Amino acid sequence: MSYQNYTTEQLQALDNAHHLHPFTDHKQLRSDGARMIVRADGPFIYDSDGNEILDGMAGLWCVNIGYGRDELAKAAYEQMKELPYYNSFFRCTTPTPVLLAAKLAELAPKGLNQVFYGSSGSEANDTAVRLVRHYWSLEGKPEKNIIISRNTAYHGSSITGASLGGMAAMHGQLHGAVPNIVHVMPPYSYEFAHAGESDHDFGLRAARAVEDAILEAGADKVAAFIGEPVMGAGGVRIPPASYWPEIQRVCRKYDVLLMIDEVITGYGRTGAWFGCETYGVEADTITTAKALTSGYQPLSALLVGERISSTLVEKGGEFYHGYTYSGHPVCCAVALANLDIIEREGLVERVANDTGPYFSKVLAETIGKHAMVGETRSIGLMGAVELARGNGSRERFDPGQAAGEMVRDHAVANGLMVRSVGDTMILSPPLIWGREHVDMACERLSRALDDVA
Ligand code: PLP
Repeated sequence: MSYQNYTTEQLQALDNAHHLHPFTDHKQLRSDGARMIVRADGPFIYDSDGNEILDGMAGLWCVNIGYGRDELAKAAYEQMKELPYYNSFFRCTTPTPVLLAAKLAELAPKGLNQVFYGSSGSEANDTAVRLVRHYWSLEGKPEKNIIISRNTAYHGSSITGASLGGMAAMHGQLHGAVPNIVHVMPPYSYEFAHAGESDHDFGLRAARAVEDAILEAGADKVAAFIGEPVMGAGGVRIPPASYWPEIQRVCRKYDVLLMIDEVITGYGRTGAWFGCETYGVEADTITTAKALTSGYQPLSALLVGERISSTLVEKGGEFYHGYTYSGHPVCCAVALANLDIIEREGLVERVANDTGPYFSKVLAETIGKHAMVGETRSIGLMGAVELARGNGSRERFDPGQAAGEMVRDHAVANGLMVRSVGDTMILSPPLIWGREHVDMACERLSRALDDVA
């Protein structure tokens, strides 16, 4: 059945009648109707009205190699013909998850040699929490089970993911979060630095909030700290350089494990294969998903460090955890083809040495000068624009004005897909962007700001 037999209006009517969308106000959606994205090619997406839109979000932070890659489609087709499904339970497995695990062990920071698969970032974080608590239990310390996280962190939508995350609106709808998760302040200087406080000092203060939380709970009760190297969905909150080394020091001091959530930052986004390498931090677990397959198939991989994996293996006993699609052969075949493209085309190096620095410069020199912009910031190919009353100010618009949503809508009308998190505009494009796409995006965003100002 082809969608081409339907008009946009017919599709929207069926959508309203039958489809509940994620993170959506359905009352509003029913009056506006959803934009139908019907195809995509390279860095562009196309809607059912024929509009070409430069995708400044790589789908949802995931399509790192861009759209329309035959190699991934072929990998999926070949694998489906040969073996569409078999599981890795009960002392069986299939070749592609094995080969992918070996590849990930080669790419990952030293010591993260073992992989546990799921289908989503949320599942990977659920696994990470269960595994870390299981580790301490095997070590004879079952009471060491508190996880420290941060306000405005995003770690997924499952009950565990949302409990780990620090999104107030999500907590409001949890009606009973997973226990033993504590939240501290995020390293977000734009909002939380004191007047005159240096970035360095603010970074240390934000990291010491973790130490305070450990001392308050008691180190013998704290299993781990979890954090995104750069907070993504919270608004591309880039920590000061002093933050992660201090977190590492504090975690080592109190023997608290470090869980790094790289669902967004993994596979090149920050200009290194993993965001923790950008910040020189050593993790006990790394959660990845999204760009592992560039979004062509749903797959997540939890990378597990030697400390945890050796205990798991040496102490033995079953870890009662797994998903039907853990190590799905088709998803793993697609991931292998995707990683091959990222390596072969040198996308990580390109972000580090060319497009990342260029993006930062053009964003600051164009958007950063606009009267409605308080701050621009970026690392690699992820960036944010803070909307404010006056250039360089920190004075927010009245929430009722919905400035962020208006800028987003005008950006889309001008041919650029961006996201708004409140009044923070987000860009996280495919890593195949060249300088011409950076220029195009900044011109289009600039026009959107002019339209709204
Ligand atoms: N962790 C982070 C940092 C994320 O940004 C996300 C999703 O955006 C998740 C976890 C959850 O991933 P998923 O939506 O695949 O469950």
